[in-house]
Amino acid sequence: MANLFSLQCPTCGASLQADGSSKQIACEHCGNQYLLDKELEQMNDEQRENLSPAVTYANKPGQWIKVADVDVLLHSFSEETVGKEHVLFAEVEYLNKTSDPLNYRHDQWIVFDKAGYTYEATMDYLHPKLYKGKIYIGRTRMLNPGMRLRGWLVFILPPEGKIECLQFSAGSQPIKTLEFRI
Ligand SMILES: [Zn+2]
Repeated sequence: MANLFSLQCPTCGASLQADGSSKQIACEHCGNQYLLDKELEQMNDEQRENLSPAVTYANKPGQWIKVADVDVLLHSFSEETVGKEHVLFAEVEYLNKTSDPLNYRHDQWIVFDKAGYTYEATMDYLHPKLYKGKIYIGRTRMLNPGMRLRGWLVFILPPEGKIECLQFSAGSQPIKTLEFRI
């Protein structure tokens, strides 16, 4: 017989139930899905109460999502043609809820295309026109406890490229990731 566990969604806090032998859980309330490092029945109570998924699959912006120690929000994104460039614009924000300073890098955000190629954001001094009216988030920033950081990332893609996802990664051993299917 399946061993059911009661859990809280790591994103929205809704109550969920999941089979103990599963590493995949889904929240009907916010729509996010999670891949866990290990099966629920192999975790201790504390790990089940503070789920830190290996992968969070999100499909809409506007949610604070925890990735390892990092609380991150994708405010908005848009795929546009600007002049001859095929561009993905994304505005993101971080909040350091830990008691330690955290370092954030723009290359924690990567766009995957459907062919498997990956793209890092370009920088404002390389493409000032693409960042017009948008504040670049910066290549690297140190954020002290309680501070927030907000800004834009601009990804330049091949003209015919089809976006698979926007991925954010954080933490170490193991690295946790967030994937926006957009
Ligand atoms: Zn949820």
